[in-house]
Amino acid sequence: MATDSALRREARSWYEATWDPERPTGEWYRSMTEERWAYPTWPERWWGRALTTPQARIVREERQRAGALGPPSGIGPTLLAPMLFEHGTDDQCGRFLWGMAAEGWVFCQMLSEPEAGSDLANVQTIAEPDGDEWRVSGSKVWTSNADVVDYGMLLARTDPGAPKHHGLTFFLIARDQPGVDVRPLRQMTGDARFNQVFFDRARVLAGDRLGADGEGWGVTRTFLAHEKNSYNPAAHEGGPFGRVDLDRPAGETLERLRQHRTAASAGRGVGRLLTDLVARSGRGDDPLVRQDLARLWSERQLMTQTNRRSGTAAPSPRAVGPISKLTVSELTRGQRDTGLAVQGPWGALVGDDAWSPAFQYFALNSPSLSIAGGTDEIQRNHLAERALGLPRDPGPP
Ligand SMILES: Cc1cc2nc3c(=O)[nH]c(=O)nc-3n(C[C@H](O)[C@H](O)[C@H](O)COP(=O)(O)OP(=O)(O)OC[C@H]3O[C@@H](n4cnc5c(N)ncnc54)[C@H](O)[C@@H]3O)c2cc1C
Repeated sequence: MATDSALRREARSWYEATWDPERPTGEWYRSMTEERWAYPTWPERWWGRALTTPQARIVREERQRAGALGPPSGIGPTLLAPMLFEHGTDDQCGRFLWGMAAEGWVFCQMLSEPEAGSDLANVQTIAEPDGDEWRVSGSKVWTSNADVVDYGMLLARTDPGAPKHHGLTFFLIARDQPGVDVRPLRQMTGDARFNQVFFDRARVLAGDRLGADGEGWGVTRTFLAHEKNSYNPAAHEGGPFGRVDLDRPAGETLERLRQHRTAASAGRGVGRLLTDLVARSGRGDDPLVRQDLARLWSERQLMTQTNRRSGTAAPSPRAVGPISKLTVSELTRGQRDTGLAVQGPWGALVGDDAWSPAFQYFALNSPSLSIAGGTDEIQRNHLAERALGLPRDPGPP
């Protein structure tokens, strides 16, 4: 294996020689994938270099130094890729890894249903064999970005007679086909970022079943293990989330990404918004407010440290995901409560009347962070059972 300095030299010279902002984005993605720089932690046979996380950071630094666009971010690379390495066939790895890295394919999670959220094994959507293919009927809910994706990662029941955790199978289902109806759900923020998806004998190709028939629960456990990491910003390579125009020059895609990040950090730089609110409320010398701000700052440091340690020498790897997610929930609630408290009655206003519309948006969006990807209560159950070794949660009768 090359030394870190040799790796740095190689990455630097490749990015310096190859990055060209005028090249179409799709061509740039393909070039990074073929030359195995897009996701260098991937195995060598699948467009990677089997690098460690710290080594991959060196590659990322050199890409940033060259001012080059990163490979696609999102749940394809962070969630589906590790599942494919564990459960995928060679054909699936070849198609889907190439698709997400070089063709910008995007994916969503089709797990939750009206009667199956925390208790995911209660999934009722059915997949029936049809020759060597499958036909899916039923409904999924809270499906983020289902309106824009290429494929859904779908958990469906293939043997209704089997006990709950058996008889489930995991599939990759194409969204753009007859029999898939995606309807947006309006949230209290006013956005409609997630959807309900209805299936009416929608088709899954024979080769798009992930894992064996009836073993979907095992595949789902891999999924859930990786899902918590997908909330960690450090797990993303820094390129665009979601669909991009592959014909657009890569430099323009990068510029749009930068603008989006600037806008998002103006909206989400909650620390700064809070400090601003405190200053405008004239309560900057209130000891209770100052104590809240100090506590939130400490929690933020704790979260950053936990994220940095994930994937490396964490004290208990099983604890990192749940702790990281619980810390985000806790921090978010604290920021919301402090921000609304310093505004007093003005905290009830939204839109143009609000002191800080971005902060009010954050406050309305805050509950979603302790629900999406597994609720706080479920994270605590995981910590209790898997990290502390306490007896299993008895669950519903
Ligand atoms: C912003 C957002 C995006 C989402 N995106 C997606 C997506 O893309 N794809 C997808 O499939 N789903 C998605 N979800 C759904 C999410 O995964 C579920 O909402 C979540 O798993 C909880 O399930 P539920 O809503 O059915 O609540 P329930 O499971 O019905 O839980 C209700 C309450 O009971 C508590 N509870 C349940 N079981 C236990 C237990 N054993 N012990 C203690 N307390 C318990 C819960 O903590 C919760 O407070 C999203 C949700 C949100 C908010």
